[in-house]
Amino acid sequence: MAQLFFKYGAMNSGKSIEIIKVAHNYEEQGKPVLLFTSGLDDRDEVGSISSRIGFKRTAIPIFAETDIFNMVRNYHPRPHCVLVDEAQFLTKTHVLQLAKIVDECNIPVMGFGLKNDFRNELFEGSKYLLLYADKVEEMKTICWFCERKATMNLRIDSNGKPVYTGDQIQIGGNESYYPVCRRCYLHPPI
Ligand SMILES: [Zn+2]
Repeated sequence: MAQLFFKYGAMNSGKSIEIIKVAHNYEEQGKPVLLFTSGLDDRDEVGSISSRIGFKRTAIPIFAETDIFNMVRNYHPRPHCVLVDEAQFLTKTHVLQLAKIVDECNIPVMGFGLKNDFRNELFEGSKYLLLYADKVEEMKTICWFCERKATMNLRIDSNGKPVYTGDQIQIGGNESYYPVCRRCYLHPPI
């Protein structure tokens, strides 16, 4: 039986490279996959997944009105797996559509994304993936400032100061995000 997976990790934990690797593994065996990403993410161009170490794939952008279930159900050839990058930006409706793809089409779906935002609150997509996924897996990376495991994302503004309040989604601004442990999140050594 197909399953719904949620693989979450802090910034720079290798989520995009993992997606590209999984897609490659399927396609090497002649099994087509469908790649999605958030239409909100314009760091690159809309509709692409790129990893910091240089690989890049085109992906179908998901917007608020996108019905992922209908797109996948009607897609030819039938995908052997559905991969979703930036899954934190999904709505609850999108997550339920992913569950329906698994349950009604018997196609495995893997969502990849951040769990918590820079305020250390859950993203909507992550919250519902945590609630609805069959399997949840943490992708690990190391704190930017020390040797502990990074579990949070620290936002630094253009003056180099940590920020803990503001809108959850601010893509393409001058701020940067760093994977950090709890200690460095609460007391950044900067
Ligand atoms: Zn740390």
